[in-house]
Amino acid sequence: MTDATAPAPKPGILDIAPYVGGKSRIDGVAEPMKLSSNENMLGAGQKAREAYEAAVRHIHIYPDGRASKLRDAVAEQHGLEPERLIFGNGSDEVFALLNQGYLTPGDNIVSGQYGFLAYRISALANQAAVKLAPEPEFKATPEALLAQVDERTRIVYVSSPSNPTGSYNTAEEIRRLHEGLRPDVLLVVDEAYAEYVTEADWETSFGLARDSENIVVTRTFSKIHGLGGLRIGFGYAPEKVAEAIDRIRLPFNVSVPGIEAAVAALGDEVHQQASRELIQTWRPRLTQAIRGFGFEVLPSAGNFVLVRFTDEKRNAGAANDYLNSKGIIVRQVGGYGLPDCLRITIGTEDQNRAVLDALSEFAAT
Ligand SMILES: *Cc1c(COP(=O)(O)O)cnc(C)c1O
Repeated sequence: MTDATAPAPKPGILDIAPYVGGKSRIDGVAEPMKLSSNENMLGAGQKAREAYEAAVRHIHIYPDGRASKLRDAVAEQHGLEPERLIFGNGSDEVFALLNQGYLTPGDNIVSGQYGFLAYRISALANQAAVKLAPEPEFKATPEALLAQVDERTRIVYVSSPSNPTGSYNTAEEIRRLHEGLRPDVLLVVDEAYAEYVTEADWETSFGLARDSENIVVTRTFSKIHGLGGLRIGFGYAPEKVAEAIDRIRLPFNVSVPGIEAAVAALGDEVHQQASRELIQTWRPRLTQAIRGFGFEVLPSAGNFVLVRFTDEKRNAGAANDYLNSKGIIVRQVGGYGLPDCLRITIGTEDQNRAVLDALSEFAAT
């Protein structure tokens, strides 16, 4: 109902369910083990922390609005054209900017049924609709996504690997999806977990994007680089898209310490390697062990596992409570339509062992 006596947000805004992030507190536990947001449990690397600390001398100066130093470092690292990069306050902001730049009321975006919620919130804020492709196998297939595309579709979002399911799309599937799209539909390939993938049929879409006018590939510093708190992500876009987004983004959307820490993180091969190895060592161990307790674990290409609790008594809510009672916070994913699942970020060895101990005890309850 409109109430002419008070300011009213645009239609639809109040229908948007507020984003609920990973929990970070348990009552009565001083330092809970937070495995709820897929952060890097090794923390940021030494080089990034030093760069961040050194940047304190410059925080009274506005950042370089083009983030040139970071732009050049990212372009160099991945062999990309610097002018085609879009930097954001996390890749979340890149999605929001694309939605703001390309959606008009009545348009729609398409994503998988369990697709990342960040795509949807800003689409709704732009009075666009969200069309979800069914994922019966916990994976958004090109066919299911293409079946949702209609004349009002402006953007298709796919994350590979995907959060929270952990599934991924092969290079061939991404190509097929792209081939099936009209040239005026943007395809956004979110590669937030790219560095953790070991599957041989996965490939970054940077190469596919290079020669296309309608692909944006996004990456983040929040996961392998351990800089989630600094909020830095980027998109590799066609030049025309990058130019359009440059007109609407806030002029100083990436901070001085953020730029410095991200550049240093890119150069810290040792920390990236340690972070990758931690996940690649523990992902199969956790998967096997948790399956051994009788719970279903979806295959994951990311730094987390999704566990399904189909037992009536030992359900996801009970498992969550049990883990909390041991000081461990994991992610309930009812908001993604997965009420019988918990998403567990892969942590350090000690953390992973604590999770396994707790789940094995829970299985015996
Ligand atoms: C964590 C994550 C991101 C990264 O978001 P930032 O805003 O860069 O921190 C992007 N996409 C998915 C699917 C994620 O899980």
